[in-house]
Amino acid sequence: MPLMNTQYDAIMRSYAQRQAVSRRKLEERLADIQRQIPELSSLESSLASLQARKVRTAIEGNREELNRLSSELALLLARREDLLEEHGYSLEDLRPSYVCPDCQDTGYIGAEKCHCFLQAEINLLYHQSHLQDVLERENFHAFSYSWYEASDREIMRHHVMDARLFIEGFEKEFRNLLLLGKVGSGKTFLSNCIAKELMDTGHSVVYLTAFQLFQLLSKAVFGGNDSREEPEIQAYPYIFDCDLLIIDDLGTELPNSFTVSQLFLCINERILRRRSTLISSNLDIGALEDLYSDRILSRIISSYTILQFPETDIRIQKKLRSTT
Ligand SMILES: [Zn+2]
Repeated sequence: MPLMNTQYDAIMRSYAQRQAVSRRKLEERLADIQRQIPELSSLESSLASLQARKVRTAIEGNREELNRLSSELALLLARREDLLEEHGYSLEDLRPSYVCPDCQDTGYIGAEKCHCFLQAEINLLYHQSHLQDVLERENFHAFSYSWYEASDREIMRHHVMDARLFIEGFEKEFRNLLLLGKVGSGKTFLSNCIAKELMDTGHSVVYLTAFQLFQLLSKAVFGGNDSREEPEIQAYPYIFDCDLLIIDDLGTELPNSFTVSQLFLCINERILRRRSTLISSNLDIGALEDLYSDRILSRIISSYTILQFPETDIRIQKKLRSTT
């Protein structure tokens, strides 16, 4: 994906910021630990000089001395671990903590871009950085069956189980989901739960409302040369390539023959590339069939798992619960 220099710089700046934050946190933590365990700094310097002696001894080939140093080192390491534990710390606290441990917040693994760089590109190009905030609030930890009438909870248990199976099998099994139900029945919440789990495990997720998707598709087809530099157009290939494409609210836009053909192209292309798609809609299958073509519907029905949501409006239930 060719990024403009300014976009690349913006992403690299955010990595530099992350690194600065984690360095500062580590320094503060180390200072705290040092204050609480004064013995630690002399222990650390003994460890360092022992390590150096061990390397020298290994080069000299003195096996007996090497064994002695190794056991001395093991004792000191165990002592350090005990000391930390006594004060409620662990070895991990002596190391920096990264947002992405895979690339240690550098954006690169060797010469290759890390998966988190790819997601940073998507977030930047699709202006979906707000998604991170939404996903902090809407995830499996925040989900509650109490939002649903008792009779609907069994249905939701099945849907949540299906969502979890979708996530667990994401790498091995190619699947797509169609979430159907009225406004407020929790479809977007559940798709956010799925997006969060997959993004946390390094998968690229593009989230678009159907309206945004069609705008983007029409810009890409009819936009002409002027729109080539627009970020969304550069991001266009991600619609076909990202690990999960979420199309929210299908059916709220006014479809025409162009959007119908583009939707088919998008759905079909992703099936051919074995890239998963999650579609949600307030309409039922019959209404979707009226809006789009038989061709689209039969493609969806044959390759999507359909989850029909109960009628409860969870927005009302959540509000009731937050005020009682
Ligand atoms: Zn990374």
